[in-house]
Amino acid sequence: MFDVARIRNDFPILSRQVNGEPLVYLDNAATSQTPRQVIDAITDYYSRYNANIHRGVHTLSQEATDAYEQARIKIQKHFNAAHPHEIIMTSGTTHGINLVAQGFTGFLQQGDEVWVSAMEHHSNIVPWQMLCERTGARLRVIPMNKNGELELDTFREGLSDKTRLVFVNHVSNALGTVNPIEEIISLAHDAGAAVLVDGAQAAPHIRADLQALDADFYTVSAHKLCGPTGVGALYGKESWLEKLPPYQGGGEMIEEVTFEKTTYAGLPHKFEAGTPNICGGIAFGAALDYLNGIGMKAIAEYEAELLAYATKNLKTIPGLKIYGEAARKTSVISFNLEGIHPYDVGTILDKLGIAVRTGHHCAQPVMDFYGIPGTVRASFSFYNTREEADRLVAAVEKARQMLA
Ligand SMILES: *Cc1c(COP(=O)(O)O)cnc(C)c1O
Repeated sequence: MFDVARIRNDFPILSRQVNGEPLVYLDNAATSQTPRQVIDAITDYYSRYNANIHRGVHTLSQEATDAYEQARIKIQKHFNAAHPHEIIMTSGTTHGINLVAQGFTGFLQQGDEVWVSAMEHHSNIVPWQMLCERTGARLRVIPMNKNGELELDTFREGLSDKTRLVFVNHVSNALGTVNPIEEIISLAHDAGAAVLVDGAQAAPHIRADLQALDADFYTVSAHKLCGPTGVGALYGKESWLEKLPPYQGGGEMIEEVTFEKTTYAGLPHKFEAGTPNICGGIAFGAALDYLNGIGMKAIAEYEAELLAYATKNLKTIPGLKIYGEAARKTSVISFNLEGIHPYDVGTILDKLGIAVRTGHHCAQPVMDFYGIPGTVRASFSFYNTREEADRLVAAVEKARQMLA
């Protein structure tokens, strides 16, 4: 039995009011809310054992190092990576992608090809465009259809011995589509190419098994997983991480420094220059503990039911069009009201205490594909309820009547 009332009690923010109405938080695809258990981990760190890690012999430093490395192991176990040193702590998905894109500079040359999907977040497009500019490699695009699903035929036919890298999100943040990454990875590997999966939007809903998936790289952000902002993880296969050069130079990432030559530390420290977000990393571990306490399977089942319920009821509103109706979706509904700008809908919803996202959702190519400036995006989490979905539907109907 999924006890959503009990779960909601874990999230202090959910009991606040916005514009005199109880908050309905439906912007989970942008960032998730934080349970007391994670807030407590943050308070505990700063109250009891705040210290720099990996350096001090003193007790606080050792406690902080232990907790931080414990968090790395929690991330490894959660995603079933083979080794803890395959988990690089980052500031988030964007950092992880840039680390890999920068690292590949020396491995690509003129004429090489890299593929990206038509429904990527800007953070999984721009770093690769920059890589192509540096190296002369060519960026190719896996197209999508009106349902918001990737069309793999072009990709299948376009793969060749020139193909070096493929970047694709596991779940689209703009549409909620779950992409067939298993198939993409297997096709890419057959062509000898490496694959980076942007897992930022998938991780809150689907637990990727990294060994089964066989992705070469996988990136996540803690703040979409009930953790704090400014921390995330990059998974890389050991063989790739050994090959890639360091991203940044500094303390912590070296073995020995002289003015003649510096040798780098082993994994994962080679990629972790400077003092990391220690508290954030520990809180990320606490967030995974929290999610696993509920169970990712139970979360996915509950959210699927909520998605079906909200979709069905939103569709009763005249002139409402949903963008992205893929067969496999997470709990994201992107929509517009005919003839009404998404920003105006979002503004009225906020007056009614409902937080949604409006705009291009950092995925302008998706909006261009549909020929629209943006959408209203309601994204549900496991702490949302049917009553909140009802309030959304009533508020959208009210907005339609006011703006039509
Ligand atoms: C949120 C998101 C990102 C960016 O994550 P940051 O935490 O801002 O680095 C990238 N890709 C997808 C699919 C996302 O949903």
